[in-house]
Amino acid sequence: MNILNTSFNTPYKTAPFSKIKTEDFLPAFKKAIENAKAEIDDITNNDETPTFQNTIEALDYSGEELDRISSIFFNLNSAETNDDIQKIAQEVSPLLSEFSNDITLNEDLFKRVKAVYDSKSELDLTTEQETLLDKKYKSFSRNGANLSEDKKQKLRAIDKELSQLKLKFGEHVLAETNKFEMLLTDEADLSGLPEGAKEAAKQLAESKEKDGWLITLDYPSYIPFMTYADNRELRERLSKAFGSKGFHNDNLDNQDVVLKIANLRFERAQLLGYKTHAHFVLEERMAETPEKVNEFLNELLDKAKPAAQEEFEKLEAFAKETDNIDQLQKWDSAYYSEKLKQKLFDLDDEKLKPYFKLENVINGAFTVANKLFGLQFEEIDDIDKYHDDVLTYKVTDSEGELVSIFYADFFPRSGKRNGAWMTSYKPQMIKNGINERPHVSIVCNFTKPTKSKPSLLTFNEVTTLFHEFGHALHGMLANTTYPSLSGTSVYWDFVELPSQVLENWCYEEESLKLFATHYETGEVIPMELVEKIKASSTFHEGMQTLRQLSFGLLDMSWHGVDPTKITDVKAHEVEAFGETKLYPEVEENCMSTAFSHIFQGGYSSGYYSYKWAEVLDADAFEYFKQEGIFNKTVADKFKTFVLSQGGTENPMDLYKKFRGQEPQPEALLRRAGLLK
Ligand SMILES: [Zn+2]
Repeated sequence: MNILNTSFNTPYKTAPFSKIKTEDFLPAFKKAIENAKAEIDDITNNDETPTFQNTIEALDYSGEELDRISSIFFNLNSAETNDDIQKIAQEVSPLLSEFSNDITLNEDLFKRVKAVYDSKSELDLTTEQETLLDKKYKSFSRNGANLSEDKKQKLRAIDKELSQLKLKFGEHVLAETNKFEMLLTDEADLSGLPEGAKEAAKQLAESKEKDGWLITLDYPSYIPFMTYADNRELRERLSKAFGSKGFHNDNLDNQDVVLKIANLRFERAQLLGYKTHAHFVLEERMAETPEKVNEFLNELLDKAKPAAQEEFEKLEAFAKETDNIDQLQKWDSAYYSEKLKQKLFDLDDEKLKPYFKLENVINGAFTVANKLFGLQFEEIDDIDKYHDDVLTYKVTDSEGELVSIFYADFFPRSGKRNGAWMTSYKPQMIKNGINERPHVSIVCNFTKPTKSKPSLLTFNEVTTLFHEFGHALHGMLANTTYPSLSGTSVYWDFVELPSQVLENWCYEEESLKLFATHYETGEVIPMELVEKIKASSTFHEGMQTLRQLSFGLLDMSWHGVDPTKITDVKAHEVEAFGETKLYPEVEENCMSTAFSHIFQGGYSSGYYSYKWAEVLDADAFEYFKQEGIFNKTVADKFKTFVLSQGGTENPMDLYKKFRGQEPQPEALLRRAGLLK
């Protein structure tokens, strides 16, 4: 028997990592897909009239075995992969997408779902059940299940063309990025760059058998050069190369691709009965409509613009006084901002790190969770781990009841991808009257301990830990009936609220004194350092806000309108940027032709969500600040209406139950000190 196809006979039903062999995965997946298909057949072959229970609920509980195996496999593929696992991923991914297409295109199944959906008003459903019904119905209708046969075919054709265009867009951007090289042979041209960046440029040149220093458009090369290089002409050259990707009227040009993608998305939306692509996308977002997104962006723009202009003028004056610059240009922005920041704050990571020993920070996060939500974390050693570095905990509530199993995996190694993330091995759900508790994990890439020194975190790593821990709390405290609505399964512009809000506890004296103590002397972090961290974290917040808003507005200008009349990509963009512009226009540049987030990735009509999430977290934290950052009542409300509810209700309704009102954009500006 393949152990992956059994229900695990382990403590808390945790994944039996030590007993799973890599070669078990593929056969286990195939078997689980077969079983899941049989479960779907049972639903469609049922002779009884479709009901919420025998159709919608049955559908949501189906595929549990497949989900369990997928979680383990793809989590390992991110955190502890190898060639064999990657090979299996290549084989398994098409099987999984085929299976999920089989469900979406299953007409018998849709008929039953639709029958339940159409009788919705006669059913006595809870809010959660209604949400689930809507969600299931839309997973079919938004993929064209209600269309006539010829329109369905049209939709498939558009989808196919769109996926090819997105691929082409990405290939062009990549080729443009790789094509450009700036070889410097005079060391004086690297003046200002930190040693590490110089060294990297030298090595890059060597790897291509060139003499000198090579600068490219890859971020690790581009960012330090734009931030530190004293040579203004070279910064200009690099900046213009970066800003003109896909905009050279050659075989790698993306202007046509952009126009085609925007038009096909519009056509697709219309086919499905939506006014624009943004209307289609935002139907499943907290923001709901393009009108609301535009209103949000413009309101923030109105309020942030004076502050941004003031910051810009100060930066201009600083550049004038430092280097006699008459007209500040885009390629001066990072350079003088960094210089000004150094001058104002003189904050360096080495001064902070001794106060943030990893063990202290973890305990700090646990203490915060204890004070807010009454959670207890106990390290356990009776469950399997996929790597020795992984820490395992049992999480209980104030009555000692099991809340969750928690895995934490902090250090980089080959086989782990970059970045930091939260994930789960077992979802929370209530099935057959049993509240199945979740198994949650966070994975990071923090500074490793050495023989002589413990792991000391940079401040950025500290906030990252709290961020991922916030996501983890959303998973751990989940208390819903249906697995697809549980924990972090919420609208995409709502999911960053728990994670971002928790970061705020890293800036407050009251919480820092609980854990930010010097690893050798035990001294609590000096408050003047904390004040500096705070002040520098909102440095140039006005200009940053304007920049983010400009991207959000550009996104909406492509997707929230009928794009059929747009013919000139650059002219369209200049208009969209009109209100957010601070720097002189650069004729050679175009953002849209390399805006991969919205034309290749999944952010179309979604770029606003970065700022949206910040507003939510600032507004939520303001409530905590008013009542006390460890106030039990506010924390209880946050747990009851946000953390435990997953996606069972419209997120705006949940938020209002917690906060008593809709989120206010001003909260973000107030936190940054931009509103008096
Ligand atoms: Zn996040």
